[in-house]
Amino acid sequence: MNNRQIITCLLVPGGLVFPLALALWHLTPRPELLQSFLSLLPYVILGIGIMLGWRFQRSRLLLLLLLLTLTQASVINLLPRSLANFSLAVIPLLLPVNLLWLAFVSERNFISITTITRLLCFAVQGGLVWFAYHFYAEQSLTIIGYNPWDSAELDPFTSLVPLTPLATIAFAVTFLAIFITLLWRPTMERGAQLWMVIGVYFAQISLGNEALHYTATAALILIVALLETSHSMAFRDELTGLGSRRALNEYLQRLSGTYTLAMVDIDHFKKVNDTYGHDIGDQVLKMVASCLAKVKGGGKAFRYGGEEFTIVFAGKKQELSVPHLETLRLSIAQSSFALRGKGRPKKKPKTASQRRSKPQTLSVTVSIGVAGHHDRKQSAGQVIKQADTALYKAKHGGRNQIC
Ligand code: GH3
Ligand code: MG
Ligand code: MG
Repeated sequence: MNNRQIITCLLVPGGLVFPLALALWHLTPRPELLQSFLSLLPYVILGIGIMLGWRFQRSRLLLLLLLLTLTQASVINLLPRSLANFSLAVIPLLLPVNLLWLAFVSERNFISITTITRLLCFAVQGGLVWFAYHFYAEQSLTIIGYNPWDSAELDPFTSLVPLTPLATIAFAVTFLAIFITLLWRPTMERGAQLWMVIGVYFAQISLGNEALHYTATAALILIVALLETSHSMAFRDELTGLGSRRALNEYLQRLSGTYTLAMVDIDHFKKVNDTYGHDIGDQVLKMVASCLAKVKGGGKAFRYGGEEFTIVFAGKKQELSVPHLETLRLSIAQSSFALRGKGRPKKKPKTASQRRSKPQTLSVTVSIGVAGHHDRKQSAGQVIKQADTALYKAKHGGRNQIC
């Protein structure tokens, strides 16, 4: 479990968007133009979310946004007052249950039988609420622990709504379930879902436009998380966590003056795969990448592709960069990577002799080709080609060296 990753997923984007959005909603005095913009914004957010959900084929985003904004909007604007009051009692219980359900179902295509079935589930719940209101209103409210006489005193546009114990428990269970899975496997989407539950909770204890703002904030966090995830999918290599080739290309485009570029290639990597299998090969790639990420001297490491990496020293001449590369080459050659899975006992060894037997380790070396960019007319592609030629020389010179 990576603590930094957990904290990042907890704070980005929710920890940033939530306070910012709330500050905007609560801004006073509000110019009239901003006021009308803010009252439209929740619906704009819903529209943008649905468009993005369709573009990225994320039906879960669509379902969550529909659930959030439409329940809120329907209570405020669409339903007759008496049914709205009844819904106000029922929705705080139904919402967390639905959020929990949607957070854990698998992602499906935007237009698919599963998505339509899930939408139908919403419709059935709406139908049940309507049925309960018309035929068993008092009994339903008694079952969920809501005192109908309290509702007469509730002014739906100003007061805070006390949630029923059942609804509070539902929110707590949903929050905890999402939080625990975030600790277990931290992703930005989970972090956003956690903030969504917080936003929806506040929406349920507030009323009127304020509730709509909390819901819109939750929706906004889901959208930002989707954009963040898509961005990192394009610019981050999934296996090693280093910048991807696309990130390298963008980075090089921004550089114009002097820089040094090194192509790093693992020696005889095919043999590692052939001897230990592809999974161990992947582990070795990760470990080499983590060594390369620690490069000093202002270098930035990227995964170029396969078992090839690129390190760029922006604003640094070749002679100043090579010592840092030499340190990297040595540190990789001297590291022995402990193999997980293969050669490592699953249970803790009981006897001393078992304990003495060392876990299986593996060493690899890298060859490095270096080229410099000095001339503005020289393109990044040309520099990469030169570094590749130097790498070829390093391989032919016997590997585990820098050319
Ligand atoms: P050399 O010293 O000349 O570089 O030899 P090499 O075996 O490292 O080079 P070659 O290009 O023949 O082999 C590269 C191997 O890297 C082949 C491919 O199966 C493996 N490879 C590429 N990407 C991955 C990956 O993501 N995971 C694993 N496990 N292997 C990969
Ligand atoms: Mg290669
Ligand atoms: Mg290689």
